[in-house]
Amino acid sequence: MSTINILTKRITRFVNWLITSGCKQVYDEDTNRKIIVINLFAMVGMSITLMLGVRALTDNDNVLGAVLLSSATLFGLCKALLLHSRLLYNHVLAPLILVVSLAGLMLFLVASGGVANTGPLWIYVLPPVAMFFAGVVYGVITVIVFMALCSYLLFAADGIFIVAEYTTEFKLRLLYSFATVTFLSAFYEHSRQTSFNIVKDLSTKFEKQAQQDTLTLLPNRRGIQQFIEFETARARRQKAPLTLVLCDIDRFKSVNDTYGHDGGDIILKHVSSLFKSSIRQQDGVARWGGEEFLFVLPDTDESNGVVLAEKVRQTLASAPIEIQQKSVSVTASFGVAQLDFEQGLDKALSLADKALYKAKEKGRNKVLSASSLVRL
Ligand code: GH3
Ligand code: MG
Ligand code: MG
Repeated sequence: MSTINILTKRITRFVNWLITSGCKQVYDEDTNRKIIVINLFAMVGMSITLMLGVRALTDNDNVLGAVLLSSATLFGLCKALLLHSRLLYNHVLAPLILVVSLAGLMLFLVASGGVANTGPLWIYVLPPVAMFFAGVVYGVITVIVFMALCSYLLFAADGIFIVAEYTTEFKLRLLYSFATVTFLSAFYEHSRQTSFNIVKDLSTKFEKQAQQDTLTLLPNRRGIQQFIEFETARARRQKAPLTLVLCDIDRFKSVNDTYGHDGGDIILKHVSSLFKSSIRQQDGVARWGGEEFLFVLPDTDESNGVVLAEKVRQTLASAPIEIQQKSVSVTASFGVAQLDFEQGLDKALSLADKALYKAKEKGRNKVLSASSLVRL
């Protein structure tokens, strides 16, 4: 790799670290986006106030210089807080310091006039920043408090705290235009938040749908995957047994042929709810494929898995389902296999599948375990 490539990579990594410090996986997307903006704002704010502060000091404007450098320090503190990613609530404290110091700086600029009475021009930064960091409600409250203090400074405390000279027209228009920017910022933030919530709800809904079988409402293959991985890791850690049971409805094709696809669907729904109600809270059951189901049984060895499968088999066989005013008996075959941590999940699934195949071969409506195959 060339030196330029290595350098570019290092710079990119450094900039990325600067911008994303404080972001955490446990936070939602919106919070992490806010943290990125706080990082950017703190760095930009710190650079500008530092630059202007040094300039004010060299121009012998010591008060303005001191205030600007204090603001630069506060902005730097926000950045430092975010770098301390172990600190709890640093993503709440940092924007709070940021908004309060920004409002303080703006009040000072209004009172002092900044450089050649241009100080008030900066106050328009406050509404969008306050809305974005504090949300619409707290943002509006912050801005109203700021406006009240500003009005007091401009009209009631003129001559006491106010050093700059403004005409009454200027003061009034400054407040009117500031109120307009506040209104627009609040409206924008409200729309942004609403759109974000809609997109978030939709994505949660789609994510759920992608993991759930729409007919039976059981988890689908993708949906049970996470559960299997979690339980496998837990079982391995605790040295506890974990058993898988594959189940396939017997002669389902002929049910479809006799009662139509809709009839078949009714049976699938019935079987699914029966399976769901037959297992313990900590167990999982999913629609593994067409008329195939997978039971995941934590803290269960193979012999206890056989007991559960046998119970489910008998319940299903003795509960006929009514379709088109006819009572239809449905049976299923089961293959049971305990997970061997050395051999892995795929092996356990393949053993359960083999046992299921054998149960079909032996006449269906049966439960067979993987270890019984060895003995056969
Ligand atoms: P076996 O006892 O050997 O398992 O016989 P089978 O008829 O159940 O097995 P086969 O694999 O030949 O047929 C499975 C049938 O399940 C065929 C397919 O049309 C049906 N099927 C799969 N998914 C659905 C579904 O969502 N709804 C309905 N109604 N039928 C389905
Ligand atoms: Mg099948
Ligand atoms: Mg079948």
